[in-house]
Amino acid sequence: MLKNDIVYERSDREAIRILDDFLPDRIFDAHAHIFDSRFMKGAFSESDAQRSVGLDEYRSAMLPMLSSPRELLVNMIPMPDASMGNTALDSLAISDEFLVRQLDKDERCVGEIMLRPGESESEIRSRLVHRGIKGFKCYHTLLDRNDSFNADIEEYLPEWAWQIANEKGMCITLHMVKERSLADEKNLDYIKAMAKKYPNAVLILAHAARAFAPWTALETVEKIAELENVWYDFSSVCEPTAIFWIIRKVGISRCMWGSDFPICIDRGKVISLADTFYWIYQSDLDRFFSKTGVNNWLIGIENLMAMRQAAQMLELTPKDVEALFFGNASGLWKI
Ligand SMILES: [Zn+2]
Repeated sequence: MLKNDIVYERSDREAIRILDDFLPDRIFDAHAHIFDSRFMKGAFSESDAQRSVGLDEYRSAMLPMLSSPRELLVNMIPMPDASMGNTALDSLAISDEFLVRQLDKDERCVGEIMLRPGESESEIRSRLVHRGIKGFKCYHTLLDRNDSFNADIEEYLPEWAWQIANEKGMCITLHMVKERSLADEKNLDYIKAMAKKYPNAVLILAHAARAFAPWTALETVEKIAELENVWYDFSSVCEPTAIFWIIRKVGISRCMWGSDFPICIDRGKVISLADTFYWIYQSDLDRFFSKTGVNNWLIGIENLMAMRQAAQMLELTPKDVEALFFGNASGLWKI
């Protein structure tokens, strides 16, 4: 997944030149992953097996894609790994320790700790050891079940996290699953109920409420638009439809850009396909052929171009774009 050196092709460089006029000169990435190779061996290619990726590696990988902003701040989220769900292993402790080391490098950056399904209140509280820890991340693959793509949110997000987030004004970044995403009745009902029950907790619906199939957000987002503590990050979304609609229905002030690093430095795109979505990766691109020629971009460039298209359709001002890429996140995390 993570390349030692990201190769920017000619088509990438041309896109970056276009993005240069669009991107503000300060950027706050609301959703990027770091990982410690001590417990993630085998998750990446052979040559990267020994390589941990923290704040410095993140910045040097991302700066060229973002037209070298004068400031690049980030909400660092540990890369989910199934081993973090296993109480017999110390993956979570290693992950926390690595996150804290990254937070120490720049007091203007923030981070979220990964939650284990079923984690107790005292366990969670004992892990809040750094002022830069501003939220929680949960993920379905930490569950001990094969079809975790069908999991209900409460299975992988302990309610204690809501209580603690409510008490401390912290965030929860949620990448929900199930085929219909936000259009799944149980997902939607859960979000409504918990956001109302814990009004001081901030729920960030990752990947535009995981609307890689945009219809799932188009039909539903209005129903939760009045919930002021539900925010959206647009990480990895490579088509403008859901971004456009969420900004239109929710307003810009609860929307943030995110890179989903290191996913964004892979080549490809996530596309809507019929009523589902599909991730195009290099192995797919290798098979593509067209007489008219076919270019491709890094996933992060696809995402930034989708952001730009949504901004064009919404006729956003540079001030709006600054809010999306910096101001909203820095306000949320009080940086
Ligand atoms: Zn992510």
